[in-house]
Formats: sequence, structure tokens, C-alpha cells
Amino acid sequence: MIFDVIVVGGGVVGTAIFNKLVRIGKKVALLDKASDVATGQSKANSALVHAGYDPAPNTLKAKMNVKGNALFPALCRRLGVPFKRTGALVVGDDRAMIERLYARGKENGVKNLFILNREQILSLAPDIADGITVALYAKSAGITSPYLLTIALADEGILNGGKVFLEEDIKRVEREGEVFKITTLKGEFYAKNIINSAGAGYNDIAKILKSESYPLTFRRGEYFVFDKNAHLKTSCTLFPLPTKMGKGVLVTPTVDGNFLVGPTSEDSDERTITTDAGLNDIKVKAKNILKNINFKNAIRQFSGVRVISGEDFIIERSKRQNGVINLAGICSPGLSSAPAIAEYVVKLLGYKNEEKKNLKALPKHTLFKNLPITKQRELLRKDKSFGEIVCKCEKITKGDILSALNRPLKVHSVDGIKRRTNAGMGICQGGFCFTKVVKMIAKARKIKYEEVLKENRGSEVALGDIREVEKW
Ligand SMILES: Cc1cc2nc3c(=O)[nH]c(=O)nc-3n(C[C@H](O)[C@H](O)[C@H](O)COP(=O)(O)OP(=O)(O)OC[C@H]3O[C@@H](n4cnc5c(N)ncnc54)[C@H](O)[C@@H]3O)c2cc1C
Repeated sequence: MIFDVIVVGGGVVGTAIFNKLVRIGKKVALLDKASDVATGQSKANSALVHAGYDPAPNTLKAKMNVKGNALFPALCRRLGVPFKRTGALVVGDDRAMIERLYARGKENGVKNLFILNREQILSLAPDIADGITVALYAKSAGITSPYLLTIALADEGILNGGKVFLEEDIKRVEREGEVFKITTLKGEFYAKNIINSAGAGYNDIAKILKSESYPLTFRRGEYFVFDKNAHLKTSCTLFPLPTKMGKGVLVTPTVDGNFLVGPTSEDSDERTITTDAGLNDIKVKAKNILKNINFKNAIRQFSGVRVISGEDFIIERSKRQNGVINLAGICSPGLSSAPAIAEYVVKLLGYKNEEKKNLKALPKHTLFKNLPITKQRELLRKDKSFGEIVCKCEKITKGDILSALNRPLKVHSVDGIKRRTNAGMGICQGGFCFTKVVKMIAKARKIKYEEVLKENRGSEVALGDIREVEKW
């Protein structure tokens, strides 16, 4: 089959483009070298849908952010992905700087921006640090689940005829007339257009495509995840005043009821590690925002690595390779911008943004614990697996995990199931449910335990079944 478009990279941006192209009726495939979508920047970030006051006016970042923010509620509703307009406060003691941010936001077209005094700030964040006297309040900022969004974009695309190929390592791309022949370690694909949306892998793909390369730099952001019982006293995201290294160490609620505190901003390599220095930095800076924050309530640390290319996103048709679209340096606010970037790429490809009629709706994957009691009773009568708890901390049932395993995009990693269900995200961090999830994946995929992954190839979780090993 010759695809109209092949998207390389299954982050939130690549899957948003894939999904949009499927919805306008194109034959599309998405290729990722990882074992699941959302394993790059899209799995480890602040999960914020920014309002759009931060990027410099007239940049792609500003335009895509403001438009993307407006597209989020309907997109998330359609896909059954959590999204809440919780609002954001940029807090400090420098009124002139807050006024500059306000003016920039207005210039970017951000609505519902306000400047608040300390009393007004206290009504939204009662525990705000003592020195804070002024804030920019962006009511349109929100929170979402970046990986659930990415997964849902992929799933809905597959449901409507798109193809996703995981663990595909591209080795060669040749032109055969108007068509590209893409050779991977596993097979061959043909496409009229290729989208390079490979994040940190952008230049590797550009080299194979003989399209433009760009200097990319990496900047690590480390975080603490706080327990749901931490009850940090803020209903919205709290930012310090921005610096040239970014938006600073923030405190934000998550859609799951936890809190994130971070990220650091350190020029780095691509490794998603956490460091003593980074974590200590967060502890100091967070106290400048919230005075009674207690890091004993942190249950996990993680980091994500920003992929940066200059001041703005690069989204353009390749001048060297007709039919190639380059997306480089899609760092923050890339999550917020993803739905708008997808529309922009459709235009760059010369297609009309007219969606097909009769598209199939993605079934909603509401966790059993979040269903109303009447629905829970109804479901339990039909399927007893929803009565069996697998993850005690997060109260995730066997039925939740089985329905995640049955979603259109089939994965065989424990982290893939964790992203889809929250199993392993609670206070014991998978200590209780890990092996149960491994067994369920092996059974559902009809594979051996040693073929189940933690995340990508090379992270196999078992040597084999102990009874088999004993026979050696
Ligand atoms: C610490 C941090 C905090 C952030 N906070 C926010 C925020 O709050 N709000 C916001 O809007 N944005 C935020 N961002 C930015 C946002 O996360 C990114 O802009 C967005 O996730 C980029 O998505 P993507 O699809 O372009 O890239 P990625 O998610 O990185 O995906 C790239 C994909 O390409 C694949 N790939 C790589 N190489 C190859 C190859 N050779 N062949 C095939 N596939 C390949 C990878 O496996 C991966 O799946 C943050 C980023 C970081 C790191």
C-alpha cells in the first residue's frame, strides 16, 4: 500500500498530526522506534495547557499555543481525556514584570488575563509565600494527561483506518519517482509524504531523509510527584516569574489529584535521570512559592528532557526534499500547541481541514473507580473482573487492565499499561501489582514473561518462568 503520509514519531504532536490526517480521509501510517506512543517528551512534562502569555509575540509558539489552548476542551471531550481549566498564577513581587507579561499575553490574543493583588492571590492559593505581592492570573490555562491524550489520538486514528507501527527502526529512505520507500529493520513502507516529528531523534531521521538538520540542545527538567493526600493549598498552577531558562519551578495539581513540583531547567544530555542537585534545587525554589510545602509527601521523582532548537518551533516544508515536513525543537508549549500544529501541518501538506463524516467514536475508558455506583453495579453484573483489585493503591481493577489491553493500539509494556490505567502510580509505586500486570500482559498478548517489557526493548522484566528456569 502507498500511504499518503507517513508520520515518524508518536509523541503528542506526531499522533495529533496522524489523527487529523486520518480524520480528513488520508491514508496514514505512524512509525515509532519505541514500544509505545508517548515515551519521549510527551510522557514526562508538566501536563499544562498553557494560556499563551509566555511566548514572544508573532512566533509560531505564540500562535500555536493560543489556538491549541482553544481547541483542547472539545478535543479532550471527544477522546474522553481529562482536561480541566484550573487557571494559572505567575506570582512574584515585581509588578512591572507582571504587567509586561500581561501586555504580551494581550498581544498574543490571550483572553481572561487579570493582575491580582495579594488578597486576591490568597483566595486561590491560601498558602502562598509571604513575599508575594502580585500575580498574573491566566484563567484559560489548564491541566491534562499528556500520555492519555497521545494514546487516545493514536487509538482513535487506528479505529478510523490509520496504521501505527511500533518498534520500527528506520534504516533507509529512497525515492521511487514521487514515492518514498522507507526501509526499517522489519520491513518496507511506501508514502507520498513524510512528517519528521521524531523529537530528540529529529536529526537522525533528517540525515536518513537528506533533509535539513538543525542544532538541537537538550534541557532536563526534574520533578517530584506528591501523594494525593498531600493536599497542597492551591486550586491552580503556581509559577514563579519566568527567566531566560524557562518558566521556573512550578507547583501544579494533576488531573489524577496528585501534585507536581518542578521542573528544573538544566542544559543536559538526553538521559531522563534525577539528580541530588536538581531535587534540592526544587525544594528550595518551591518554598519561595508555597510556604508549608512538605517534601515528605513526595512519592516519586522523574525527569523529562526538552528538545530545543533556538527560540521558536521549526515547522516547515523541507526545501531539500519535496514531500517532507520538518518539525524540530518542539519543546514547551508543544503539548498545548499539538492540536493547532496538526491543523498547520495539514495546510502545509496542501490538504483542506475538512473532516470525513461518519467517523467512529473512541469508546470512553473511564476507570471503574470513577464510574457512578449504578454504572459500577451494572458493569459488575456483566463482568466480574471489575470486582478484582490489582493495584491496591490506585484501586485499579483487573477489568480496567483488561480493557486497556484491548484498546486499538496493542502494547506489551508494564509502563504502557501504567499510563493507560494508573496501575503502579500510587504510594507503593507498583510494588504490589507489578508481577500481576506482567502476567496479564503475557496472557493477553500470548507471549512469554521474558517478552514483556518495562518500557522499550532492552527493558525485559523477567528471565523466564521460574519453573522453566529450574529445568535448565
Ligand atoms: C520537562 C518538560 C516540561 C514540559 N512541560 C510542558 C507543559 O506543561 N506544557 C506544554 O505545552 N508543553 C510542555 N513541554 C513540552 C512538550 O512535552 C513537548 O513539546 C511535546 O511533548 C513534544 O511532542 P513531540 O511529539 O514533538 O515529541 P516527543 O514526545 O518527544 O515524541 C517524539 C517521538 O519520536 C520517536 N522517535 C525518536 N526517534 C525516532 C526514530 N529514529 N524513529 C522513529 N521514531 C523516533 C520517539 O520514540 C517519540 O515517541 C514540556 C517538556 C518537558 C521536557
